[in-house]
Amino acid sequence: MKLITHWIDGKPYDGPVERRGPVYDPATGRMTAEVAFADRDVVDQAVAAAAKAFASWREVPLTRRQQILFSFRELVVQHKMDLARLLTAEHGKTLDDAAGEVQRGLEVIEFACNIAHLLKGDYSEQVSGGVDTYTIRQPLGVVAGITPFNFPAMVPMWMYPIAIACGNTFVLKPSEKDPSTSQLAAELLAEAGLPDGVFNVVHGDKEAVDALLAHPDVAAVSFVGSTPIARYIYETGTRNGKRVQALGGAKNHMVVLPDADMDLAADAAVSAGYGSAGERCMAISVVVTVGDAADRLLPKMTDRIAELKVGPGTEPGVQMGPLVTQQHLDKVLSYVEAGEQEGAVLVADGRTLTVPGHEEGFFLGPTLFDRVTPEMKIYRDEIFGPVLSTVRVDHYEDAIRLINDNPYGNGTAVFTNDGGAARKFQHEIEVGMVGINVPIPVPLSFYSFGGWKDSIFGTHAIYGPEGVHFYTRQKVIISRWPDPIHRGVDLGFPQHG
Ligand code: NAD
Repeated sequence: MKLITHWIDGKPYDGPVERRGPVYDPATGRMTAEVAFADRDVVDQAVAAAAKAFASWREVPLTRRQQILFSFRELVVQHKMDLARLLTAEHGKTLDDAAGEVQRGLEVIEFACNIAHLLKGDYSEQVSGGVDTYTIRQPLGVVAGITPFNFPAMVPMWMYPIAIACGNTFVLKPSEKDPSTSQLAAELLAEAGLPDGVFNVVHGDKEAVDALLAHPDVAAVSFVGSTPIARYIYETGTRNGKRVQALGGAKNHMVVLPDADMDLAADAAVSAGYGSAGERCMAISVVVTVGDAADRLLPKMTDRIAELKVGPGTEPGVQMGPLVTQQHLDKVLSYVEAGEQEGAVLVADGRTLTVPGHEEGFFLGPTLFDRVTPEMKIYRDEIFGPVLSTVRVDHYEDAIRLINDNPYGNGTAVFTNDGGAARKFQHEIEVGMVGINVPIPVPLSFYSFGGWKDSIFGTHAIYGPEGVHFYTRQKVIISRWPDPIHRGVDLGFPQHG
């Protein structure tokens, strides 16, 4: 059985592997590889390599750092489909969707290739007699990234290109469920000319994460994953004196007003609800219909659901692949059962799906509930599968209140043709990323990505300008060059210029 191992100090790790975990092809249900699980000693080796590399990497001129990232960008373009194929083989999403994921990661690499202007400081001349003040932004040191299974290429790329461009060195702990894209990324970074130790990968589970959180030489941690783990990472990391940004889970609502273009809304809800089998943190999981909108929207959605092609992500024409593991499939199935028991109306039942020749794959067809209420478990919890809930409300105010009362605040959308209604939504809604007739409002790389409330812990959103701020710290310099006027000793704060 193939063993996927760590990447430390510019090469694959070849030391002893005490613990390992399975990697599956979700379309067949078969185990295809094992992944090494790092213990504290392996994490120590990775952090030591990163700490050693930091001393010289921070001295590498900014323009040279950008050039290396540009070479990496070229290699990722060349290997885009290789990354996508690895991703589909371990995650299950369609090849087309996987290529889209790599593309969105590439955009952050491209942003990092041109990061110099965001590292510029401020300068104020003559703030006092002969005194100037200016700021510079400096890297933090060794930073760690801990990432989820659902975007194994893109989410790490939200972090390390920016961290490295800013002069930090990086230790990535990717999801143990789909580890291979990180290995290829490490090889491509080395081929691009990145010095050994600047980018390291340790695979594993809680043990590796805890070792990173406790390590005195890790200055900062970027985390993306579920809310309970995000909270844990934030609390533990900050208690240990680290700078932490921890992005959590989501329950994204899409409001459909009675005046909306119902064909547009039905296309959007089905695409955003079932794309990547609902395993996206920005997936729509609740459609909130106002007034009589549901009666016109739901028939259009069920027509579209009936046409969706579900199967292995590598097969041409397939629109939705399997879930990532049997364990995750079982969890999602338990929610479908809970929804039925709690009295929601099952409009489309994905459990009836069979994929011929792939009976052992982790498949669930698109599932749609109507008449879901906020007390139900399927409304309250993040399901993270192809299960959409419809909540019917009478008034627009009810829809806004429902969303604002929800503990999550990652993404949301409103579908309407009324500009005033849209403006009210963007003004009043307590969610970090808002779509107006756009179901998945993921910001491009030159903005930053981040939710509100329980969807984020820490003050910085990820990538874009906020990423640069997260991965650097500001130094203020107040400078005076010797002049002939010696003012003598003065123990007070200056009161005059
Ligand atoms: P997860 O929280 O289970 O795992 C994320 C990472 O944390 C993995 O690397 C995992 O190995 C590690 N981990 C898991 N349990 C841990 C523990 N007890 N202690 C320490 N580390 C632990 O998340 P997942 O299932 O891989 O990914 C899906 C979740 O990620 C969903 O909740 C989704 O909404 C969220 N997500 C959020 C965003 C965002 O930007 N807000 C983006 C993508 C995914």
